[in-house]
Amino acid sequence: MSVVESLSPRPGLRVLVTAGANGIGLAIARAFQEAGARVHVCDIDTQALAVLPDGITHTVADVSREADVVRLFQEAVRLGGLDVVVNNAGIAGPTAGIDEIDDKTWAHTIDINLNGQYRVAHRAAPLLRDSQGLLLNLASVAGRLGFAYRTPYAASKWGVVGLTKSLACELGPEGVRVNAILPGIVRGPRIEKVIEDRAAKRGISYAEMEQENLAKVSMRRMVEPTDIAAMALFLSAPGGANISGQALSVCANVESL
Ligand code: NAD
Repeated sequence: MSVVESLSPRPGLRVLVTAGANGIGLAIARAFQEAGARVHVCDIDTQALAVLPDGITHTVADVSREADVVRLFQEAVRLGGLDVVVNNAGIAGPTAGIDEIDDKTWAHTIDINLNGQYRVAHRAAPLLRDSQGLLLNLASVAGRLGFAYRTPYAASKWGVVGLTKSLACELGPEGVRVNAILPGIVRGPRIEKVIEDRAAKRGISYAEMEQENLAKVSMRRMVEPTDIAAMALFLSAPGGANISGQALSVCANVESL
């Protein structure tokens, strides 16, 4: 196989993407399908699930509920097994200072962003051992930098990086790779809401907050959801076969958020 051929995943991969109905998850699901994979997604947004591209199958499932995750895997294995599991579900969590956060908000963010990825990894591990597959966890640059007023989110994403590195150590000798992708500021409705909330917190305008965020990005522009999908495809391709236990940033951020 040439180096150029090694950049594309082999056709026929069986792929599960959590939270695949919108945003980054949908971009990843579409890209895998375009690369010849068979794709199953889950989400809680039933309206968006109803208009998925033809051929992508789905389960309505909330990763914070164990019973939903069990049902998700019962349905996803109808693909005949799983080669790639993309642990993408995650919420933005509150924009709040440490004096404002309460136990409930803290626990909710951790339960979806970190415990949800654990629940999916727990069910995925035996299937990925069978296929010698790949677990891809969506973290964030907030999983390697500080993020003022967004501590629950940042803490959950640092946790995702720890989950990734530990599972890579554990499952690597059994032939399973585990990596984290750390997106920067990705264009879409989620980031618009985060910028809006942070601007209100700081008492500055949306434009000023956006400008401040982009000043910390060397390329001065947002990442596109398809940039994240490109990294997911590369890591699933033969060219990525010796990459595991890594936290790979897809961004041009050079300092704190
Ligand atoms: P998004 O908000 O655009 O989409 C999230 C999807 O998750 C939605 O379809 C939603 O219905 C679904 N979802 C929410 N809670 C769920 C649950 N409990 N179970 C199942 N599905 C659930 O988000 P996005 O921007 O596409 O982010 C995807 C991942 O990338 C997240 O883990 C996020 O933290 C991470 N990320 C995003 C950015 C960014 O700038 N957008 C940056 C860094 C990391």
